[in-house]
Amino acid sequence: MKRRTFFQSAAAVPLAGALKGATAPSLETRIVRLKLEHTWTTTMSSSEYRDTLYAAYTRDGITGHGEGAPIVRYKEDAASAQKAVDSVRALLLAAPPLEFAKTMNQVFGRVPGEWAAKAAIDIALMDWVGQKLGIPLYSYFGLDPKDTPLTTFSIGIDTPEITRQKTREAEAYPVLKVKVGLATDEPTIEAVRSVTHKPLRVDANEGWKDKEEAVRKINWLEKQGVEFIEQPLAADRIEDTRWIRSRVHMPIIADEACQHASDIPKLREAYDGVNIKLDKSGGLLEAYRMIQIAKALGMKTMLGCMVSSSVSVTAAAHLSPLVDYADLDGNLLIANDPFRGVRVEKGKLVLPSRPGLGLTPVG
Ligand code: MG
Repeated sequence: MKRRTFFQSAAAVPLAGALKGATAPSLETRIVRLKLEHTWTTTMSSSEYRDTLYAAYTRDGITGHGEGAPIVRYKEDAASAQKAVDSVRALLLAAPPLEFAKTMNQVFGRVPGEWAAKAAIDIALMDWVGQKLGIPLYSYFGLDPKDTPLTTFSIGIDTPEITRQKTREAEAYPVLKVKVGLATDEPTIEAVRSVTHKPLRVDANEGWKDKEEAVRKINWLEKQGVEFIEQPLAADRIEDTRWIRSRVHMPIIADEACQHASDIPKLREAYDGVNIKLDKSGGLLEAYRMIQIAKALGMKTMLGCMVSSSVSVTAAAHLSPLVDYADLDGNLLIANDPFRGVRVEKGKLVLPSRPGLGLTPVG
């Protein structure tokens, strides 16, 4: 089935269900190829498309949509994610849907790894629950949609000329996130700064190898109006990161070093904050727990995303009233988003007020 046909049929399910009365619950999955507007380069990879896993959970005439972006670093791909969802389909279809937290605990217990698959399941269940209760997910979590933060717009690694062009194209976004971590860091930042004076946040994606060089670069970045640095060294170099932190003023945020709630306490001495992503945590419930733990430890909180459609980005955005920083632009980087959900107005995340995620299919 083509992507568009799948989404149209998924969107048509509530009507069909209502007309036919009670139908058997279903859980469909599809691997969807998202085309990038620009070739996307970080220290980890370079690509023109990304495959993510979609899940549609239908019950009582309501369809909940979920998505997870598999992360190569955690040895996942779209096919392994799809297989993981298939392995718990019987459990999910038999479980009472309003016992979603119990069900997700069972899924976490049964499926090793495969965090993107878990995220797709969790998001689909939570979208369904929100729709069933008739409330948007931010209300389910007790949040005020007016409290959403600004989101950054990300600039991938490229030549100075294309970096200038991308920076100009990002004019509507008041804060930018710039990818560094290769030998071209200074020319990249100078290219951005030749076009704009707006605040920047910088992500090294574990790209720097030498701690003294990291200190020099961070102190140089501070003079360039950079607000914080994300993941300067490899995730396992916690002691070296603590050493850097004691020599710079700029906050240091953990991304690759922080996948789950259990990672957070040990990061406290080396990092000022954590970047939480649904694709790493395994969904909204675990991400919510991580935000609360980080806050309790006095750390800054950030919600990030992978290259994804509006399904996953909107899910994360529903938790964003809780966090200090948002980097929720994965859907803005693609050319074929199958849904509309969260919007960005002058950089601020604007949440849909419809029940659940509040998604509408495109086309
Ligand atoms: Mg990052």
